[in-house]
Amino acid sequence: MISFSSFSLREELTQAISDLGFETPTPIQQKVIPTLLTDPIDIIGLAQTGTGKTAAFGLPLLHHVDVAEKHVQCLVLSPTRELCMQIQTEMSKYGAQMRGLRITAVYGGMPIGAQIRELKAHPQVVVATPGRLIDLLERKAISLDEVEYVVLDEADEMLNMGFREDIDLILKNTPSREHTWLFSATMSNEVRGIAKRFMKDWKEFSVATANTTNENIDHQYYVANHHNRYEALRRLLDFTPGIYGIIFTRTRQDAQDVSEKLMKMGYQVSALHGDMDQKMRSKVMDRFKSKQLQCIVATDVAARGIDVNDITHVINYELPDDPEVYTHRSGRTARAGKSGICMSIVSPKQISNIRQIERLVKQKFHKSDIPDGAEVVRKRLFHYLEQIASAEPQADFAKLYHESIHEQFADVDKDELIRKLIWLQLKDTIDAYHNTNDLNAGYETKERGARGNRSVRLFINLGEKDGLTTGKLLQFITESTDIDSGLIERITVRELSSFFNVPGMAAEAVMDQLSSRKFHGRRVRLEEAEQSGGRGRSGGGKKDFRGGGGGGHRSKSQSPRFSGDVRTFGSREGGYKGKKR
Ligand code: AMP
Repeated sequence: MISFSSFSLREELTQAISDLGFETPTPIQQKVIPTLLTDPIDIIGLAQTGTGKTAAFGLPLLHHVDVAEKHVQCLVLSPTRELCMQIQTEMSKYGAQMRGLRITAVYGGMPIGAQIRELKAHPQVVVATPGRLIDLLERKAISLDEVEYVVLDEADEMLNMGFREDIDLILKNTPSREHTWLFSATMSNEVRGIAKRFMKDWKEFSVATANTTNENIDHQYYVANHHNRYEALRRLLDFTPGIYGIIFTRTRQDAQDVSEKLMKMGYQVSALHGDMDQKMRSKVMDRFKSKQLQCIVATDVAARGIDVNDITHVINYELPDDPEVYTHRSGRTARAGKSGICMSIVSPKQISNIRQIERLVKQKFHKSDIPDGAEVVRKRLFHYLEQIASAEPQADFAKLYHESIHEQFADVDKDELIRKLIWLQLKDTIDAYHNTNDLNAGYETKERGARGNRSVRLFINLGEKDGLTTGKLLQFITESTDIDSGLIERITVRELSSFFNVPGMAAEAVMDQLSSRKFHGRRVRLEEAEQSGGRGRSGGGKKDFRGGGGGGHRSKSQSPRFSGDVRTFGSREGGYKGKKR
């Protein structure tokens, strides 16, 4: 097995690594370190955060640094402030024994004056975000004239953030650049474009594929309709006491909104996104690292700076568009040999995205039910009982108890006392989950609600005139939705329209999925049909929807099937109304 000592790194580095407790180099380190030490050619390393890529470039960089020289020799460009700080911290640990080594990080969102002063102390290594570096170049606060090594870290993300021109400008201003090392989680034409413009005969090293499959991650998904997303999140959080996680949203606004709502409900969470200033973000990170926060609600970009190894759960409040982004998110948990869970809340329409991600990560996802109220209460009860069982009261406390408390409860029955204590602890949860709704959408869920038990008859605006037969309609429905053909019953094809039955739990999803489709160029429209026809009768009258009149596409808010969806959730919510789409 390859060990760090076989790399012939300078002694100070080997010692520091051993002090840090690193035993075996990670796959990306095994691949690139020997090359970058002996033959520091240009390279592209395809690896994500969490693979040990900072050390993969950081150790060779430090190996080549001449501490006696007081000018910038190595430049690391990185997309975000958090990542800059993280790289600086990591590299400072590796270089802890290199006397005279200075590593400075410069990034936006912090006063530039302090950074200019730090640059005057002549660092050999500068870690920078492109925007701030250009600002410093314009102010002549830094010279890149003698930079020999440039690392572009998370190049794909820098390009996503619109830094292409800045990167070009910076690289053009490094006349002594001999070695360019580009790291990226993904390979795109834009990334290749940078390589073509600025790199010579590069070698590529990849651990991306191997790394997308992390056996230690349990991928779970929960199917909820869009308007139930927030409530489903809360239920999952309540069902997971002891969670230490990251909740991912697509937008900064969502991160802000979701975290505010959760905070108001008493959850220990905070948002982390690009609209927050650096001070605020650092404060949030400190609170998260010290476990004062149970979760962070973050956007993808902001979360790149979260360097925490013991995340228990990643929750996708919304799935990302790009399956690769999913692997970045899920890779936040199950780091350093630990195991973790990645939960995704998806709408019925997004089940096909799950299949796509399954293929990428080469792992089967587990469809799980959003727990009902009784399950949440039971889970929290057992968690509390475990906490009691493992509690170790201080000796002083025992004294206090004996002297003043014992007397008060001397005559109280033990069972009664336990009941009271548990009630006090759980009454908020019990209140909140009294009479809650089933949030599961889809077909394979337990039938709990009244609607879920019955079969629902649907009207579709296609008939024989459209070339439809029973078989063709069945095929069209199964190809366009996730419903199993065995669950579609009582198909009736008429001249201009048709009817069929599906389980109540599936009706909404089938309507959503089919309504976005066209059949032979005709836009498909579905409605819930009246059940008056009963079994054996063909067809079934359409309901008289207010304003819909059976003509134009009715709005969902007019639909009786939605009337039950505007509801008041648990009492802790203070009367929060579930939003209609
Ligand atoms: P990175 O991918 O660079 O963000 O590194 C992820 C984490 O793994 C950091 O906390 C590193 O300190 C740690 N790490 C890097 N290389 C090793 C190694 N060979 N053995 C153990 N931990 C490592």
